[in-house]
Amino acid sequence: MKVEEVKSTVKTQRISAHSHIKGLGLDENGFAIQQAAGLVGQEQAREAAGVVVDMIKSKKMAGRAVLLAGPPGTGKTAIALAIAQELGNKVPFCPMVGSEVYSSEIKKTEVLMENFRRAIGLRIRETKEVYEGEVSELTPVETENPAGGYGKTVSHVIIGLRTAKGSKQLKLDPSIYEALQKEKVEVGDVIYIEATSGAVKRQGRSDAYATEFDLEAEEYVPLPKGDVHKKKEVVQDVTLHDLDAANAKPQGGQDVLSMMGQLLKPKKTEITDKLRKEINKVVDKYIDQGIAELVPGVLFIDEVHMLDIETFTYLHRALESAIAPIVIFATNRGRCLIRGTDDIYSPHGIPLDLLDRLLIIRTIPYDRPEMEQILILRAKTEGLEIDTDALTALGEVGVKATLRYAVQLLTPAHLAAKLNERNNISLADVEEVAVLFLDAKQSAKIVSENKEKFMQ
Ligand code: ATP
Repeated sequence: MKVEEVKSTVKTQRISAHSHIKGLGLDENGFAIQQAAGLVGQEQAREAAGVVVDMIKSKKMAGRAVLLAGPPGTGKTAIALAIAQELGNKVPFCPMVGSEVYSSEIKKTEVLMENFRRAIGLRIRETKEVYEGEVSELTPVETENPAGGYGKTVSHVIIGLRTAKGSKQLKLDPSIYEALQKEKVEVGDVIYIEATSGAVKRQGRSDAYATEFDLEAEEYVPLPKGDVHKKKEVVQDVTLHDLDAANAKPQGGQDVLSMMGQLLKPKKTEITDKLRKEINKVVDKYIDQGIAELVPGVLFIDEVHMLDIETFTYLHRALESAIAPIVIFATNRGRCLIRGTDDIYSPHGIPLDLLDRLLIIRTIPYDRPEMEQILILRAKTEGLEIDTDALTALGEVGVKATLRYAVQLLTPAHLAAKLNERNNISLADVEEVAVLFLDAKQSAKIVSENKEKFMQ
């Protein structure tokens, strides 16, 4: 089996607004520390979330879900993300909004299923045979440009490698030389070379920085079987959706998880139920063999009242399936009509039988000092400097409008500062952008005051 790199399709953009959040910030007794792990205030909700994490870890959440109920901008997404992080490193977090299920092209349940699979991870362990050693020589060998052009090109590279069992010299493909340069590998660095594919990695770098590529091993690497081989465990995290997508549209090359691609032939062109079933079978097999492990993550569904009765029914069933992520709903609605029905009203627009299965956590609005703390955190994360009076003014904006709006003003305020050739956001910058843009409340007020000027 050979596993190659798969680019995860996590919805990065939506998560980036919350990149300062690292966990729930609870102490060893489960109490919230006022500001910790990137979270500020909202202590009760964080403590309740901590209980949920304990329940998940002790496998007491099966068939249940969580509902975060509170006004907009009270950190519901932030807390849901923190729950995922508390569950462990690389646990998938998939945020979506209820209204996403309505598309003219894709069935509602299909959208839900895709997001379900984005929230279920698979950790694949693979043992690779590698040469590992210290670089003792690194010599690019140049030849005249074969086409008769000017200059020389690197035709191959000689690497001396001091391994635990002695030294050896490898003659490698020129593409490896480029990769080594990119990785800034020098004599004295410890690197490892995969015995089968010839891929090179520099030790001590995270996988994200390591460059991996194929080369025609037979041609360049003399790979004597023997005692210089070492076994190295390589772990890769993907989601079930990554596997679906990689198999539906195999792109060849290194981005595709070829382990699955090879098993599902002929290639499909879109993700179908049948393809998912086949993928599940293969995944089950790898789990049985101990090569892979399921990592249920968190599916966060904001504005849950936008879902309709049909999707609720589907969700309810999906929650009970053997492999389900933890589902966290969020709402800012009270009692309302369940979509897709004419006259069934219920709390948060959620059918009662589902409501019965929910643990409900309430979030409350932040006070001004808390808003300022959060703004400072965001400014730091985005590498922005902000004057004290500018911060106070933004805090004020947060109190009048929403926290999200205040946070969003940071970027235009920084642009205004830059236009004035400053790096720090001043009060004037905040005032300037606060006049340029409207928050939702102001905007709605203007529209309703000038109804006759707008199209009906
Ligand atoms: P909601 O889902 O309730 O609308 P949210 O989590 O989406 O809230 P935003 O309105 O996006 O929150 O919040 C604006 C910004 O403030 C985001 O960057 C979010 O991460 C951050 N934030 C919200 N609550 C907290 C908190 N308690 N501690 C730290 N940062 C927070």
